[in-house]
Amino acid sequence: MKTAFSRKNLWEKMPDSLKRGVGSVLGAIPSQYLLGGQFRRNLAFIHESDRWSDDRIRDHQFQQLQRVLISAYQNTSYYHATFDSAGFHPNDFREPEDIRRLPTIDKNTVQGHLNEMCAVSPDRGGVDLVSTGGSSGQTLQFYIDAGRSAIEYAYLVAGWMRVGYRLELPQVILRGAIVNENRQGLRHFYDAVLRRHYYSNFHTSEEDIRRYLDHIATVGPCYFHGYPSSAVRLARFLEVHNEGAPANIRGVLCGSENVYPEDRALVEKAFGVRYYSWYGHSEKLVLASECEHTNDYHVHPTYGYFELLDECGDPVTEPGQVGEIVGTGFINTIVPFVRYRTGDHATYVGHGCKACGRRHPIVSGSVEGRFSSEVLVATDGSSISLTTFNVHDDTFENVVGYQFFQSAPGRAELRILPARSLSEGELAHILEGATRRLQGQIDVKIRVVDELQKTKRGKQLRVITELADAVEKGLETGRPELQNR
Ligand SMILES: [Zn+2]
Repeated sequence: MKTAFSRKNLWEKMPDSLKRGVGSVLGAIPSQYLLGGQFRRNLAFIHESDRWSDDRIRDHQFQQLQRVLISAYQNTSYYHATFDSAGFHPNDFREPEDIRRLPTIDKNTVQGHLNEMCAVSPDRGGVDLVSTGGSSGQTLQFYIDAGRSAIEYAYLVAGWMRVGYRLELPQVILRGAIVNENRQGLRHFYDAVLRRHYYSNFHTSEEDIRRYLDHIATVGPCYFHGYPSSAVRLARFLEVHNEGAPANIRGVLCGSENVYPEDRALVEKAFGVRYYSWYGHSEKLVLASECEHTNDYHVHPTYGYFELLDECGDPVTEPGQVGEIVGTGFINTIVPFVRYRTGDHATYVGHGCKACGRRHPIVSGSVEGRFSSEVLVATDGSSISLTTFNVHDDTFENVVGYQFFQSAPGRAELRILPARSLSEGELAHILEGATRRLQGQIDVKIRVVDELQKTKRGKQLRVITELADAVEKGLETGRPELQNR
């Protein structure tokens, strides 16, 4: 894969042994300096723009959109043709809403026209080729500036700082990284630049979790950073063993998967700290973060131009209404994404947050809508969203994790990873609870397993499906159930 020569790429490619050596020196230098000048400027800019008025935000968005549209029109044959067809010229662009005169694009557009969408040659320096998987199995490839990470990371850090995170504090990470055993046989690696302790999310047996928690307890004040499912894995372990979390964990930062309210509650109870989440995607068009006071997502207005569109393509303006997240990015100067339909959906809350005062669009719900992984298909073809499967009773009391496997409509295997050996009666109780929640629409069989299947990036899906049309059905019908808050 093509990757540009940059500080981040260089660090990622460095052998672990060398990183350890370099790391011991780097550990003495404040993180904000190691992360570079661009990162520091971005972070200061985000903090400043967080307090901008509506007018100031509109001015900035207009200038950014104008820059993107001019580049798209002048430098790419794809946008030149589609702007002409729409009767749109960037010189006529007067206010942000004018962008609605342009057509939306989606993953298929980028897949089919990538070369015609490049504003500069992807062969030049400073360009990365990015490949995103997604649980639907449909991959997307596109080019993006190698310098994006310093921008994106500043936004993430600015969000985490709302709940007390500081760059000096280490993070303990349970996400998609491949982590080999160290000399003590522990799957742990320390990255001194980002002050991150990585553990393997692909190895989460009882013994593994015990060792991770024991190690975490030794690293001093820190933040846990993981997938929602990995935070739940730890929380369930603590619950089953009737233990508290290591007292040095100051907060839980979780992104990249759906956040279910009952999972948030479970983790906050087990860890005794705030659970903080955000929404983002590899295309780098929209980033939205919770604030100090609420669990609603505040869309960063300087990251990209955000639209929430209903099924007819009209803006969603009524609180409570669900729409698709459509973004025009400010970061990618190689391949402009203009009005890109993300396939993710969110519920509109309003404009501006009363609690924190930020004049940002506010949305809620499981905005990380990888619906294909969250839907079961009944015999009659109807799709059953697992958000309706939310469990508040004792059905999964002695279960560490579960996952459905479906290869035929109307039938599914419920794979469970038990916390301890379960009796026939306990298994029957789980089966009864699951069947009841699926309204008898799915004939469920239970199978006890040693491990749950994860994606290449270590995300744990709730449904593994072999139904070809489940993906499409999920996208078409999975939305309303996402209003789960
Ligand atoms: Zn707020």
